[in-house]
Amino acid sequence: MAKVIADMLIESVTLELPDVKTVRLQWPEGYDPGEFKTGQFITVAWPHKPKYRRAYSLSSCGLDRGFYEVTVKRDGKMGTSVVDWAEAGDRMTVIPPAGRFLPVFDPPGKHLICVAGGSGVTPFRGFVREATARNLDTRITVLYTVRTTQDIIFAREFQELEAKNPRFRFLVTCTRLTPEDPWTGRRGRITPEWVRSFVDDPANTVFYACGTNEMVGAVEHLVTGDLGLPKEQMKTEKWG
Ligand SMILES: Cc1cc2nc3c(=O)[nH]c(=O)nc-3n(C[C@H](O)[C@H](O)[C@H](O)COP(=O)(O)OP(=O)(O)OC[C@H]3O[C@@H](n4cnc5c(N)ncnc54)[C@H](O)[C@@H]3O)c2cc1C
Repeated sequence: MAKVIADMLIESVTLELPDVKTVRLQWPEGYDPGEFKTGQFITVAWPHKPKYRRAYSLSSCGLDRGFYEVTVKRDGKMGTSVVDWAEAGDRMTVIPPAGRFLPVFDPPGKHLICVAGGSGVTPFRGFVREATARNLDTRITVLYTVRTTQDIIFAREFQELEAKNPRFRFLVTCTRLTPEDPWTGRRGRITPEWVRSFVDDPANTVFYACGTNEMVGAVEHLVTGDLGLPKEQMKTEKWG
C-alpha cells in the first residue's frame, strides 16, 4: 500500500524539560502507515507551511499503534515552533516513518550500545520500550552525555525501565557541572576508555550513535578506529 501523507491531530503534549516537548500525534480514522519500525523517523510540517518539513525520530516504538510520539528540543525554526507553540488540538502534516536506524533484536543475544548527546536520546526510548515490552534478551546500554543534570531527557522513565528490565542500563555523564554539584554519577566527556569498559563481547555488540554530525562522527571514529569494530556494527543517525 502506498504511504500516505496525513493530517494528524496533536492529541497531547508533555513538557519533558523547559526546552523539550513530546508531541503525541493521533492517527486519523482509517490511517494505515504500512509496516514501520522502532528507530525510524517521521517528517512533519505545520499545515500553513507545508513546504517547511523536518524529520523527528520516533520516541514511541513500533509496537505503539494509533499514534506517533516525537520529542523535540527548542532549536532552530521548527524545533522552536513546536516547543513554544504546539498544543493539544493543533494539527500537523505527517509523512510516515522512514529510515534505517533500527535496533537489531533479531538474531537474539546482541548487546546494543547506544551513545546519545542531548536530544539524540529520543530514538533510544523506543528501542528500550520495545525490548522491555517484548521481554527480549537483547542487552541495551545507553551512554548519554548532557551538560548538567537539568538536561537529562526521560530521566525518570529510563530509571523505571531499568528497574523493569535487568538487561537495560542507563548511564549519564555530565560535562558542565560545577564542582559543588551533588551529582554522584560520571562527569566529563565520553572517552574511548569509558565506552570500551562496556564491550565484553565485541562480535555481538552493535553500536548506535544519534545526534549532531560532530558527536556522531566522534563516536564512529571511536568505534571503527579506537575499538577496531567493523562498520557493519556501527549505526548512525546524523541530525545535521
Ligand atoms: C533523521 C532525523 C531525526 C531527527 N530527530 C530529532 C528529534 O527526535 N528531536 C529533535 O529535537 N530534533 C530532531 N532532528 C532535528 C530536526 O529535524 C530539526 O533540524 C531541528 O528541530 C531544528 O529545526 P530546523 O531544522 O527548523 O532549524 P533551522 O532553523 O533550519 O536551524 C538549523 C540549525 O541551525 C541553527 N541556527 C538556525 N538559525 C541560526 C542562526 N541565525 N545563527 C546560528 N545558528 C542558527 C539552529 O540552532 C539549528 O541548530 C532530527 C533530524 C533528522 C535528520
